[in-house]
Amino acid sequence: MEETSRARDELDRLGRSLRRQLVVLINDLTVRVHLRRLSLDEPKVADRCEPPRYHYATVYQGNRPAAATAAETASRAAFLLRSAGWDVTESEEDDDGVLWRVVVAHQDGNAIRILTSDNTPAVSFRGQTPALALYPPKPVQQPEPVRTPEAITPGYVLCYECDGLGWCPGCGGRGWVLGQHHRRSRCRECGTTKVCPICRGAGQLNASSLSPYQRGYYPGLDRG
Ligand SMILES: [Zn+2]
Ligand SMILES: [Zn+2]
Repeated sequence: MEETSRARDELDRLGRSLRRQLVVLINDLTVRVHLRRLSLDEPKVADRCEPPRYHYATVYQGNRPAAATAAETASRAAFLLRSAGWDVTESEEDDDGVLWRVVVAHQDGNAIRILTSDNTPAVSFRGQTPALALYPPKPVQQPEPVRTPEAITPGYVLCYECDGLGWCPGCGGRGWVLGQHHRRSRCRECGTTKVCPICRGAGQLNASSLSPYQRGYYPGLDRG
């Protein structure tokens, strides 16, 4: 399906801006820089909405220079980000006796989170763009019925549940339905088998093996 190119352009712009800022931070705050580890080449699926949304997201780990403390690194990171116009929040988190300096920054929906502690020379950088839909929602297409009234096998009747569709009438053969917040959820009628639970995909039922309940759907049968 054709990508909506404006959404892709916007996502790529945000991805480039995120990458630029991460490169500045990593070059300034860490030693032995390996920018190839910044995997920001292609957007990844962020969630399974319909349509699915994509974002650029990466994690990079580097080491502080030996002379720099965690506090100095965190405050330098906050300074660099503020100078570049990001909204910055600095905090400290105690995790089992390890004190982490945390710098979180936002700009244009992009987010960067930097973690550092005096217990390790490591500085970790996490960056992500907002998640955007790149494709228009798929139009709901009903599949062709597998059985029409004209093409029923002798001795059979058209399935009362799906009227010959064969595919699950609840989800139209997709195996999922749109739930809350446009998220895909399992079809309750077929549970991902995608076919009609009564005729199991045949579109027709053997008239001689109908239950009394099922015969109620075919009042004409008793007369014949
Ligand atoms: Zn059926
Ligand atoms: Zn279904």
